[in-house]
Amino acid sequence: MNPPFGGSGPAGFRPHETGVLTTAPRLLRVLVIEDNPGDAVLVREMLRDAHDATYQLHHATRLREGITHLLNQGADCVLLDLSLPDAEGLTALAQLRNVAVDTPVIVLSGRSDETIAVRAVQEGAQDYLIKGQVDTRLLSRSISYAIERKRAELQLAHAALHDGLTGLPNRALLLDRLGQALTRLGRRAAYVAVLFLDLDRFKVVNDSLGHDAGDRLLVDVAMRLSSDLRGGDTAARFGGDEFVILCEEVEGEREAIAIADRIAASLDAPFRVGDEEVFVRTSIGIALASGGGVRPETVIRDADAAMYRAKERGGGACEVFDDGMRERALQRLEHEHRLHRALHQHEFVLHYQPQVRMTTGVVAGVEALVRWEHPERGLVPPGDFISSAEETGLIIPLGAWVLEAACRQSAAWAHALGERSPVVSVNLSARQIAHPDLVATVAEVLERTGADPATICLEVTETAVMQDLEAAVCVLNEVKALGLTLAIDDFGTGYSSLRALQRFPFDTVKIDRSFVSGVQDSEQAAAIVSAIVSLSHALGLRTVAEGVEEVGQVERLRALGCDVAQGFFYARPTPASNLDSLLGL
Ligand code: C2E
Ligand code: CA
Ligand code: CA
Repeated sequence: MNPPFGGSGPAGFRPHETGVLTTAPRLLRVLVIEDNPGDAVLVREMLRDAHDATYQLHHATRLREGITHLLNQGADCVLLDLSLPDAEGLTALAQLRNVAVDTPVIVLSGRSDETIAVRAVQEGAQDYLIKGQVDTRLLSRSISYAIERKRAELQLAHAALHDGLTGLPNRALLLDRLGQALTRLGRRAAYVAVLFLDLDRFKVVNDSLGHDAGDRLLVDVAMRLSSDLRGGDTAARFGGDEFVILCEEVEGEREAIAIADRIAASLDAPFRVGDEEVFVRTSIGIALASGGGVRPETVIRDADAAMYRAKERGGGACEVFDDGMRERALQRLEHEHRLHRALHQHEFVLHYQPQVRMTTGVVAGVEALVRWEHPERGLVPPGDFISSAEETGLIIPLGAWVLEAACRQSAAWAHALGERSPVVSVNLSARQIAHPDLVATVAEVLERTGADPATICLEVTETAVMQDLEAAVCVLNEVKALGLTLAIDDFGTGYSSLRALQRFPFDTVKIDRSFVSGVQDSEQAAAIVSAIVSLSHALGLRTVAEGVEEVGQVERLRALGCDVAQGFFYARPTPASNLDSLLGL
């Protein structure tokens, strides 16, 4: 934007700085755009006689020439003839305002086209004069008036587009600048980043120190934000304690995050409000846009959504919402497609990990753990695809397949080993538990495979059953009625493990690896394991320690009374055929 009134020359009149218009003498630079030499001379002579100011006049005969002068030298006021060789009437005014919206314009018109002159004022000219009806006094007064009026207009426009408290641009102005930035982006491989900031503890400050202190803090925050900006970026206040920063020419997510980190770090330093030192933290949501018809409102909404997620994570954090989000949604679809195909092409296999009775060393059970035998990637662990199978719903057919394969294996072991055959544990996901067909599926699979329900244990996590407690209680009771056993997996990692124990008909508690791994060195972990074991025993439940890796852990767990152990110390998950000798086949 041009400086207001184009006052950039050495003697340039800068009304914003002096704030005084009435004191003479002063130097005013007037640009006359007029193709009629006679009229131009007339203006020059009138201004030469003026007393209230000294006028420095520049004369252009074409609009182009006038605009060039305005862009290079500026002017305090323009006198514009409405019939020029290269522009007619209101078009001339519009073109002029395009390049110098801050410069006051007085339209010069002939007697015959006074109506156009009036229209010109409606379209943004500050005043009009009819040629032949002008004298020195009228002209110099009109110039003064035009300058004053333009200044008032600019002030009003500023107030409409800025936040009254902090002086930062407001929502309307930011949306406008964002729209322009998106247009400028065009097809270039750069991004516009929008950072949505929300102060985490502002309400506390406002409530405890009072409104004035709150206002003071917002002003200080605004000042820090502005001083941290890179040239060309815009910080805006959206009301309350919400600020939005618009950054252009951002290379990508990493750079946007770096900017957010810098801002967060600068706001981390304490603020002084009165006698108090106040700390604010900020949650920042980032949205990146790469042009291509994105609406400014959409980008703001995405950044806002990302900010909410940052807040959900406990605040003081930064989250990115970008095109990648959409990409991730597409990726999910692709994953679903791939998993579907893998299921169809029999690429999933089960490995089994032994569970060893601690007193006798006998293999009491095995846990079935699914793997994907990927034609190119090799053996893919469940951590890489279970959550995506959950999200896409593919866990339902995949889980049914796992159950069936495990039951078939169990039936085979029962056939070969009789009484000595191991209990086979199968993991159920939250989505499977919530699925209305679960009980029917389990019943069908038992029927089809001929597996003895007593040799099948279903493992569920507390988080999975607590999502819809009542429904899960119902379903798991029905499963139990079919004759299967139930285990609670990852015990101790949730918030309501004890409540889960109380509400569900579990037979087995699987003590989470995080406690097992600390059982030797941490008295706290040992105490937790000890408590879980005695609680379980008091409720008539069996305990299985997960993730046992070292002999020291085995000894400690045995001493604490744990019944069964599972882990790399005994065996890694392996195909059923590798377990023959361990099972005594
Ligand atoms: P989980 O149910 O807690 O299974 C135990 C995990 O711990 C297995 O990982 C196992 O390989 C690993 N593990 C066993 N012993 C040790 C040890 O000594 N040290 C360490 N560090 N790890 C040990 P895996 O096979 O990668 O499975 C990961 C998770 O994937 C499982 O955790 C389970 O939640 C899920 N999962 C596996 N198979 C299935 C399935 O068929 N259906 C469902 N819904 N989830 C499954
Ligand atoms: Ca498990
Ligand atoms: Ca587990």
